[in-house]
Amino acid sequence: MRDATNCAIHPTVDQSEFSSLTVPTYRASTIVFDTAQAYATRLERDLDSYFYGLHGTPTTRTLEAQIAKLENGLRSVIVPSGQAGATIVFLSVLLPGDTVLVPDNVYPPVLDFCVNFLEPRGIGHRIYRPDGEGIEDLVDPAVKLIWTETPGSTTMEFQDLRAIAALGRKHGILTGADNTWATPLHLKPLDLGFDFSMQALSKYAGGHSDLLLGSVCVNDLELRRKLRDTMRMLGIGVSPDEVALALRGIETMAVRLAHVGNVALGLAEDLAARPDVGLVLHPGLPGFPQHQLWKRDFSGASGVFSVVLSEAQETNLDEALDQLKVMAIGASWGGTRSLVAPMLIGNGRKFKRPEHERTILRINVGLEDIEDLRADLNNLFDILSK
Ligand SMILES: *Cc1c(COP(=O)(O)O)cnc(C)c1O
Repeated sequence: MRDATNCAIHPTVDQSEFSSLTVPTYRASTIVFDTAQAYATRLERDLDSYFYGLHGTPTTRTLEAQIAKLENGLRSVIVPSGQAGATIVFLSVLLPGDTVLVPDNVYPPVLDFCVNFLEPRGIGHRIYRPDGEGIEDLVDPAVKLIWTETPGSTTMEFQDLRAIAALGRKHGILTGADNTWATPLHLKPLDLGFDFSMQALSKYAGGHSDLLLGSVCVNDLELRRKLRDTMRMLGIGVSPDEVALALRGIETMAVRLAHVGNVALGLAEDLAARPDVGLVLHPGLPGFPQHQLWKRDFSGASGVFSVVLSEAQETNLDEALDQLKVMAIGASWGGTRSLVAPMLIGNGRKFKRPEHERTILRINVGLEDIEDLRADLNNLFDILSK
């Protein structure tokens, strides 16, 4: 062959004695076929197979299989973000005239999607109490999906997931869980009877605040086909580079999650013992209203919890946050750095509670030394209460 051809075609090298512990990052748009017959029948290939890079490469398939194993499901799909995980589930199963039930504490962009995207297209939503109370009263023949988020971001309410899965089965309604807080290491929604388990892999799977991905896991191949059809028609895929980062993050996820879970509970106990700290929202505290429900369904807690400030403490909030030495000010969670996010629930909820009027500090525990974190939080509350 001549030079231009030798530029365009890479040499084939022997890989037979090469064995690595890492998953290769296969980037591809075009996928080529060994025979004309294979090309002609490419669209008949199984969804686990390959026909265009947008629909996955072996790197993506590896992450899909690993998520399915961890969630104890049959198949998973990888999507560009946690938000896309929720929206692709909704778009896969809801048609005009249908209704989805969402909890009052749902991740706010999901509510935005219900109100400003689904509603104008004839798909309704109803909001149920954050603890799931009274949800059966909202069920009618239009309801095709019940979405849960346990615990809810910031306000930390737990839904009775077993009861909701049973309600779905009784009425033939699909059920989906946002499993981002617990990760499948602490909760396996499919084992409880859920049809979909979604995670924002951007959080604990990624683990380093540097990637955006989501996953949806199912036990039913027909639901997997609907998810993949929706992604294909919308033109949604993920970058194998992001996927490779998630695969690396997952290697250390169990160790990270166990560590931040212990440290977070220790810090929550310390804060709860301070006379100037009001409500600490951590399910591992025996006084937490849904402590028993959490214990029944979850095998642990991750590193995110909340503290409700008093009106007096709110006056010093900016000054106190600006003095943080180790913890950073920011939302999101699941990375190596501890974060504090002041959250204002305000009028964002239908079922209002007194603590929604106050600033809630959402704390994400990272991998710094616990003594440094304890000092930072004690200093924070000393300034808040001075
Ligand atoms: C972060 C988060 C999401 C969205 O994930 P992105 O990857 O940021 O889109 C959804 N649900 C919960 C509970 C989250 O914490």
